[in-house]
Amino acid sequence: MEIVPYDLIVIGSGPGGYSAAIRAGQYGLKTALVEKQARLGGTCLLVGCIPTKALLQTADIWERFVHSDKEGIQCESPRLDYPKVKERKDGIVNKHSNGVGMLLKRAKVERITGYASLKGGAQVEVKTDAGVETLEARNILIATGSEARMLPGLQADSETVLTNIEILNLTEIPRSLIIIGAGAVGVEFASIFRRFGSEVTVIEMLPRIVPLEDEDISKELDRAFRKQKIRVETGARAENIQKIGKCIRLQLTTKDGKQEQLEAEKLLAAVGRKPNSERLGLENTRVELDRGFIKTDPYQRTAEPGVYAIGDVVAGTPQLAHVATMEGMIAVAHMAGKPAVPINKNRIPSCTYTDPGIGSVGLTEAQARAQGYSVRIGRFPFAGNSRATILGKHEGFIKVVADEKHGEILGAHIIGPEAFELIAEPVAAMNAEATVETMMQTIHAHPTLYEAMGEAFNAVYGLAINA
Ligand SMILES: Cc1cc2nc3c(=O)[nH]c(=O)nc-3n(C[C@H](O)[C@H](O)[C@H](O)COP(=O)(O)OP(=O)(O)OC[C@H]3O[C@@H](n4cnc5c(N)ncnc54)[C@H](O)[C@@H]3O)c2cc1C
Repeated sequence: MEIVPYDLIVIGSGPGGYSAAIRAGQYGLKTALVEKQARLGGTCLLVGCIPTKALLQTADIWERFVHSDKEGIQCESPRLDYPKVKERKDGIVNKHSNGVGMLLKRAKVERITGYASLKGGAQVEVKTDAGVETLEARNILIATGSEARMLPGLQADSETVLTNIEILNLTEIPRSLIIIGAGAVGVEFASIFRRFGSEVTVIEMLPRIVPLEDEDISKELDRAFRKQKIRVETGARAENIQKIGKCIRLQLTTKDGKQEQLEAEKLLAAVGRKPNSERLGLENTRVELDRGFIKTDPYQRTAEPGVYAIGDVVAGTPQLAHVATMEGMIAVAHMAGKPAVPINKNRIPSCTYTDPGIGSVGLTEAQARAQGYSVRIGRFPFAGNSRATILGKHEGFIKVVADEKHGEILGAHIIGPEAFELIAEPVAAMNAEATVETMMQTIHAHPTLYEAMGEAFNAVYGLAINA
């Protein structure tokens, strides 16, 4: 058995793993990246962030075509060619997956295709097509990510019961779609397929959709979805889910206790993601788990010396690509003896690409009040922003949550056009510890959507001009 010594072995090529491997290469560490799939990029690039946003972009353009007469453009019977839409989406994924390969090569990271597991000590066993290999490294970084949870008693297939993987492979738009779960994944697929013409029902057990967002954001998205004729059932239960021929049938119990039988062509399970920590050989190490998620310290160290973990597989980590990436930077900096600054969980942006879109950071109003802050709210509607009117997208608002005492920005919650881009400003402001006053003195170019951000800061002190 040949033992090859590395400075670092990364397991998993998602946004956490591949970015960490590149940074390690940049620091001059002898690094190998093991990925079990033939393609690089993990959930985010292959079956998550990127393909969904590619479809959402087409849904946006399609909607503009359908309503183009509002802008004085007559389009005679526009037609959606879904196989072509899918081809474009697949092309974007492939381009970027190949790009990851090139970046790894440039950073002199050795790529190994195979299934990795920890053997204890500093050893990693990799099963490849050619056989089993044992590698040795000073550091091991677990970046194995997560996979969709399935509803009890059901199994995903490519026809009727779908997860994010199968739904992205559809070659036709379903006539009807039931989505169970109204977190980011559920509502984004609702937004895609409703605009492509599917009849969409979203069923959520909790009292509101996008339950992690500020309550006002949930209410606004709920209102917008109903206007778009997406059926939204919150505080509801889906039971007795059965496949009947090529359809799905279930019993819905609404929040008022009414029961109804629902049928649809497809069902999407969007009920959360479970960590990929099984069959990783963790029993050979001192790595500790919390309900399957790996426990780490703020430098991403596990309880096993030399073994780090990042991304979706880590306990207490929001399952977001940019968090996985930043955790990778911290872990690699720490193992390379470079300055490493742990993540401040209050400064993590979170984006949901619905129509209208959502971008948020920091405390919600309810969380700020619960933590005892004397809260001031600044709220500005996109209806008062000229750029939003020009774009024909003036739904939604920006809500700034601030501390009355020092004007500290505690959180920002945006629902509206380009919310996912606009959130960058409050994130940077919070990271630089700017106060509301500093942001009121910051000049916002005209006419832009981000003027609305400036106005939301003004609104904290009742000084918005255009509302
Ligand atoms: C539909 C959908 C949309 C999303 N949209 C967004 C978004 O817009 N923005 C955002 O920030 N986040 C989004 N996410 C979440 C995001 O995809 C994840 O947070 C991110 O991919 C986590 O990165 P990771 O590196 O931890 O793991 P992953 O991306 O899951 O990658 C893990 C990799 O490890 C490999 N692997 C696992 N076990 C082994 C093993 N034993 N040996 C070798 N390889 C192994 C897997 O094959 C995989 O390639 C979305 C998720 C979904 C499902």
